[in-house]
Amino acid sequence: MKIVRQQNDFLVISCTRCSQQHVIEYPGFNKTTQGYQLVKTVTCRCGNISNAAKWEKVISSRTKDRLADAYIMIKGTIGIIFFIVVVIFVFKGCSAMIEPNNEKKNFNDITEKEYNDFMKWDAKEQQKKRDESPAFGK
Ligand SMILES: [Zn+2]
Repeated sequence: MKIVRQQNDFLVISCTRCSQQHVIEYPGFNKTTQGYQLVKTVTCRCGNISNAAKWEKVISSRTKDRLADAYIMIKGTIGIIFFIVVVIFVFKGCSAMIEPNNEKKNFNDITEKEYNDFMKWDAKEQQKKRDESPAFGK
């Protein structure tokens, strides 16, 4: 069972399996370090039997948002790196076949420009992120 709320003389818990709520009146429960120990075992309509109620671990929506942001950023970065690697391989293949010296020069110029663009973009994204969430990190 998970704890829904606790008031002075009763405890509201909900079934972890079917979400059915149960009200336990004082003194039918004892506080423990993780939640409440129920004096009498509760049998739910779904057959779930429990004699303990715990606080549900709540991940705040802000933490969730931050995780999602980080995930999107990592995915984007990996995509760009993968794209650059593919481009490098394609250009390497071309330069090996036609006029190695000339192509190699072009290839170096292009990747350097791309790298600089990426770094600029990345810095801009970081700045944008900071601007959008003033409370970030507090
Ligand atoms: Zn149930």
